[in-house]
Amino acid sequence: MKIDILTVLPELLESPFQHSILKRAKEKGLLEIRVHHLRQWAVNEYGQVDDYQYGGGAGMVMMPEPLANAIEALSKEAHYDEVIYMTPDGSLLDQRMSNQLSLKENILIICGHYKGIDQRIRDQFVTLEVSIGSYVLSGGELAAAVLVDTIGRLLPGVLNDETSALFDSFQDDLLAPPVYTRPADFRGAKVPEILLSGDPKKIEDWRHEQSLQRTQERRPDLLEP
Ligand code: SAM
Repeated sequence: MKIDILTVLPELLESPFQHSILKRAKEKGLLEIRVHHLRQWAVNEYGQVDDYQYGGGAGMVMMPEPLANAIEALSKEAHYDEVIYMTPDGSLLDQRMSNQLSLKENILIICGHYKGIDQRIRDQFVTLEVSIGSYVLSGGELAAAVLVDTIGRLLPGVLNDETSALFDSFQDDLLAPPVYTRPADFRGAKVPEILLSGDPKKIEDWRHEQSLQRTQERRPDLLEP
């Protein structure tokens, strides 16, 4: 899978993809991430990519020309299955959306700044608008990093144990059960006996029961039809 990211702050995206699972995904050739500085397509020698908003009001708006030129230039190298704009008023990111996006081949992600991007880019180029939560970030980079992380770990071959993502929270609309490691007795708090029983069927049933209970307590909305 190839992911291109358009940003005015590429520095913010230097670290998130250099470690752990995403690093492994890139090293295995399963994921390619390219970060593009929008100022390459600035409208003048000063690197301008934003301007005052029509109608007045505080805050700059990202201009349509640099974005359109960037999207068109990048589209010559790849056919994008989705052009995604990270925005607080987009569809709320959830596991289902991540699962679906992990099946795509090429994705372009636009990171906004200031008051956001000119509406005409959203109307003419963007195919999916994604919010990572009901709060406002200063820019789309951290949101893009979250999106890429959640997609990247789902790509076949990325996780060592290929099935492990299937047992994470939100797959099957359930939260994950509690997990334990050594020691079996930590300051008097013992690991549930059943996990030491060596009986896979009983352990599976217990985990499912715990998942259900946790979901009922913490996220009953997930159990609604
Ligand atoms: N004026 C916009 C609004 O009220 O909806 C907020 C703009 S925000 C300060 C700047 C940029 O950060 C946005 O264009 C978007 O790319 C990104 N952003 C902020 N919050 C986000 C969120 N919850 N999810 C995804 N992207 C977000």
